[in-house]
Amino acid sequence: MWEEDVRLMQEAGVNLVSLGIFSWSRIEPYEGRYEMAWLDRVMDLLHAGGIAVDLATATASPPPWLSRHHPEMLPATADGVRLWHGARQHYCPSSPVYRGASKRLVEQMATHYASHPALAMWHVGNEFGCHVPACYCDVSAEAFRRWLEARYGSIDDLNRAWGTDFWSQRYSDWGEVLPPRRTPTWPNPSQQLDFMRFSSDELLACYEIEHAVLTEHSPGVPVTTNFMRFFKPLDYWKWAEREDIVTDDVYQDPSDPEAGMRSAMAGDLMRSLGRGRPWVLMEQTSSRVNWREVNVAKAPGQMRLWSYQAVARGADGVMFFQWRQSRAGAEKFHSAMVPHGPVSSSPVWKEVKQLGQELHGLDAVCGSRVNADVAIVFDWESWWALELPSKPSIRIRQEAQLEDYYRPLFAANVIADFVRPTDDLSRYKLVLVPNLYLVGDDGAAALTSFVRNGGTLVMGFFSGIADPFEHIHLGGYPAPFADMLGLRVADWLPLADGESVEVVFADGGKGHGDLWSELIETSGAKAVASFGGGRLDRHAAVTRHEFGGGTAYYVGTRLDQASMARLLHTVWTAAGVSPQLEGPAGVEAMRRSVGRRSILFLLNHRPSAVDVPLAQAGTNLVDGSPVHAGLFRLGPYGAAVIREGW
Ligand SMILES: [Zn+2]
Repeated sequence: MWEEDVRLMQEAGVNLVSLGIFSWSRIEPYEGRYEMAWLDRVMDLLHAGGIAVDLATATASPPPWLSRHHPEMLPATADGVRLWHGARQHYCPSSPVYRGASKRLVEQMATHYASHPALAMWHVGNEFGCHVPACYCDVSAEAFRRWLEARYGSIDDLNRAWGTDFWSQRYSDWGEVLPPRRTPTWPNPSQQLDFMRFSSDELLACYEIEHAVLTEHSPGVPVTTNFMRFFKPLDYWKWAEREDIVTDDVYQDPSDPEAGMRSAMAGDLMRSLGRGRPWVLMEQTSSRVNWREVNVAKAPGQMRLWSYQAVARGADGVMFFQWRQSRAGAEKFHSAMVPHGPVSSSPVWKEVKQLGQELHGLDAVCGSRVNADVAIVFDWESWWALELPSKPSIRIRQEAQLEDYYRPLFAANVIADFVRPTDDLSRYKLVLVPNLYLVGDDGAAALTSFVRNGGTLVMGFFSGIADPFEHIHLGGYPAPFADMLGLRVADWLPLADGESVEVVFADGGKGHGDLWSELIETSGAKAVASFGGGRLDRHAAVTRHEFGGGTAYYVGTRLDQASMARLLHTVWTAAGVSPQLEGPAGVEAMRRSVGRRSILFLLNHRPSAVDVPLAQAGTNLVDGSPVHAGLFRLGPYGAAVIREGW
């Protein structure tokens, strides 16, 4: 079958294959006995067929012999339950047994394959943190203590950082400190936050061990590990700094009407994690997944459309899980590039083949960049802290907050990057801060000076509340931003499920807010909108404040979608931000640039054809056809990649 596979890959234009991701038990079937002849044959066959390999280190699923001989390397949940072998990713990230065994495997792989001509990229582990993002076992408890000692130095400083006088949690000795295991009620929030930081760092240490071996044996071969879009347990800002190329797995739910918006947002995140460098869509399905309750198939054309979307958002490669649909095992109902049935009658294979052939015409896109005038502040630590329990409202969710701000940008074809609060923001015209619950002094100073130096900023409610220890910033909410925003929040009035409050804009327009409301006392800020009726009647809901050379807006409720779109449209227009294209609804437009030359991506997310007005002529790289200024027809789920004027 392997020779047939290579022939089909050539037919579909496949030029890079991920290999060996879960093959540890095949490569090392007994401790210390390595069997690579079969893998040599696959590597040689692919190379002979002109296909390169993204070779996995195979460490994501340890073989049964390892946990049989060393059950202490198995992970434990917060309840103390051991997770056994028989699925995948059953390892304690802190385990010296796991780290040692995986390092020995990677040394064998790196020595054996470093100079193989098919090797193009190393793939460390797989989807780090998937299933087991944290381990609560005794080995992890000891590692957590060492991590805390390095962070705080003394037990007194730990007690201060965690506020342990509350509920009599004061520690007298490091040996008393535990991971936040199952407790009668909420574990200490600062302890939980530190455990999230620790758990992300422990998995990153596993990646680093492998990364060091690979770069020693094969310097210059890029190293990656595949991300999972907005994956909460890992601080991808930190991880991406250690990768040569960012790669991502995206599994849209075709039954979600906003799936296209959500994958655009993931693409923007990946481009931003790589600091603008091109990334690779490492995994997507050709049609269905197998892990939802109902696994809806992609519509004809939708896989191709979403592939082009990844490229539009900065990807220089499009890959899939899986190549040939497996006959046995947990993912046999997950679609593949090559289905169970004959390829000759498969619409999925036809679309895969078409995409592969078209992508070969897009060499001009490779290496080009996306230029954004808008930045959205997004920070993993703030996400972790925001969603800890025991808050004024646990209905405030980080991803939903981001989407509230992203949705109008996506609909209007305004490009945005994601940034950390401490990043250099000077190249942006507009910075959006949907929610930044936790912020340190440096982040607050960077955002404040962005506005002082002439920038426009929009901040959402419940921002600037806690410091990096999860202690409240005292001095009146939101203390770090009160001067910049020209206001103080005197009280929070979270809204019950189903409750909403009227919002009246200065021009008389009306909308409503839900989820959250608050009593804002302005001290320099002007109301852009006020609450109507109830306890907050005629108090400010949305404000605007001139600060230094810039302008800071504040939004004190979750506005309905139309009001949010109207507000942001006004703000970005005033800030001098232009959409990529003013076209019909449902058509996504993005540009990638090489110097002053630009490539326009047009993506029709609708199931019917649409005419898009174009100002400039060019060439459609998808099929090489000329494009004229005027109306351009895009078919149902159609895509075009237009080289503009060159
Ligand atoms: Zn552990």
